[in-house]
Amino acid sequence: MNWVAPVVCILILARWAAELWLSQLNRRHVLAHADAVPVAFRGIVDEPTYKKSVDYTLAKARFGNIEETYGTIVLLVILFSGVLPFAFHFFEHHHGTSAWTMAACLFTIGFAMSLPGLPLDWYAQFRLEEKFGFNTTTQKTWWMDRIKGLLLAAVLGYPLLVLILKIVEWTGALWWLWAWGALLGFQALMLVLAPVLIMPLFNKFTPLPEGGLRERLLKLAQRTSFVAKSIQVMDGSKRSRHSNAFFTGFGKFRKIVLFDTLISQLSEPELEAVLAHEIGHFKKKHIPKMLIFSTFSSLVGFYVVSVLAKQDWFYRSFGFEPGNIAPALLLFTLLSGVVMFWLSPLTHWWSRKYEYEADAFAAGVMNEPQSLIGALRKLNEKNLSNLTPHPLYSGFYYSHPTLVEREAALRDT
Ligand SMILES: [Zn+2]
Repeated sequence: MNWVAPVVCILILARWAAELWLSQLNRRHVLAHADAVPVAFRGIVDEPTYKKSVDYTLAKARFGNIEETYGTIVLLVILFSGVLPFAFHFFEHHHGTSAWTMAACLFTIGFAMSLPGLPLDWYAQFRLEEKFGFNTTTQKTWWMDRIKGLLLAAVLGYPLLVLILKIVEWTGALWWLWAWGALLGFQALMLVLAPVLIMPLFNKFTPLPEGGLRERLLKLAQRTSFVAKSIQVMDGSKRSRHSNAFFTGFGKFRKIVLFDTLISQLSEPELEAVLAHEIGHFKKKHIPKMLIFSTFSSLVGFYVVSVLAKQDWFYRSFGFEPGNIAPALLLFTLLSGVVMFWLSPLTHWWSRKYEYEADAFAAGVMNEPQSLIGALRKLNEKNLSNLTPHPLYSGFYYSHPTLVEREAALRDT
């Protein structure tokens, strides 16, 4: 069947066109509001900061368009130039078709595919982010991050690939169910290992020093019956001036992590409100709900691969001989994003719903919405967020509601 290649091409180009169109829509919307600080933000951001946020938004959009176009070309070349069947053939010819070899082949292809994006990532960090004063990463840290990432992939990702390919050999028709189980086990293991072994490879974590802030945050944890082992400060400033807060671990090993950049940007009540928001995500069970959804998605993913792996036409359309599962796994990984793109507005809508719930929770335990509003205003200002995105654009891409939307909802609580 030779309709597969054209259909896949159309899907890839449709995503590319949609992204460029949304970006253009957003650009015009931002430019239309660029002349003066919009009424809603007067007294919140000053004129120079607003202008800078407009410039940052436009610069990121321009770069994003280049990135999308480049990524689209790379994907088309990888899929249709015959380079993938050539790589598989090479590995088979020299090393056979064992799970170890096929996993090595997938790993090598994955590594090779990460290379074309490297110059763009470098540019984004050391030119774009640098220009707007966000970059604090040194060349050495940046390259070390890449090397550490590659080593982690080799130590953790490669054995997982071997295991999944072995499971296909061992278990027969229902391999996708077993492979899914193996992936769940791996993810559970990562949940435990990441805070202890992986994250310290990239950042330094130190306990929040004794004092007013620590007292305040511990009291908040107590007030909301939130169990946490410790409050840690992460040296986010090692890489960027952007700021964040999150939890790691679970049960009694849970740690609250605050970026040092966040602590330097916000007042104590504002930090308390941000943490209250994070605790809100926890109390409203957002994390397990999202986990169930992503777990279910990976089950569907494995099932789809198992169906595709039985279709000779699927293999032949991309130049492979049917028989081995590895090319089906690879093609699925490459193509799933093209389809999932159209579902992203749904998942983002869902995520925004949770953000509103966490905001409402924070305002509730703080007994006032003002601290969180103050924090959000500062974070939007410091991160030079786009204050006037096109509604269709933010609806499609934003995992968090815009500042205006969040403020309005908070005032209603
Ligand atoms: Zn949130």
